[in-house]
Amino acid sequence: MSDTIFTKIINKDIPADILYEDDIALAFKDINPQAPMHFLVIPKKAIATINDIEREDRELVGHLTWVAAHVLKEHGLAEQGFRTVMNCNEYGGQTVYHIHLHVLAGKPLGWPPYSDKLKIE
Ligand code: AMP
Repeated sequence: MSDTIFTKIINKDIPADILYEDDIALAFKDINPQAPMHFLVIPKKAIATINDIEREDRELVGHLTWVAAHVLKEHGLAEQGFRTVMNCNEYGGQTVYHIHLHVLAGKPLGWPPYSDKLKIE
């Protein structure tokens, strides 16, 4: 797959507000936050969408969730609760084609998450 802006963040070619990094994953604040705390957890391996996750990637993908909770605990935001979301493709609203776990915390979050008036039939 072609490089995305997240590859540039991994390679430190462009700046990001990094919260956590290890050999497998990177967590950094979302540039357009939708909650008092909104960060993204990405694998260093470039995988375009959830549909492209291979069997061998299962541990890596699980690691993203562990990183989310680890960072939230460090910031005292885990216990109150939070939301993780991974968007996929057009209908999911994905705009960057390098999988990323959105982590939203720091306030009560509404459900359902969409604000439009779509009728589901
Ligand atoms: P999605 O729409 O699910 O693909 O989410 C992509 C997210 O990446 C959006 O929430 C953007 O605000 C965020 N984003 C895009 N560019 C950057 C950047 N340079 N640094 C941090 N977050 C970014």
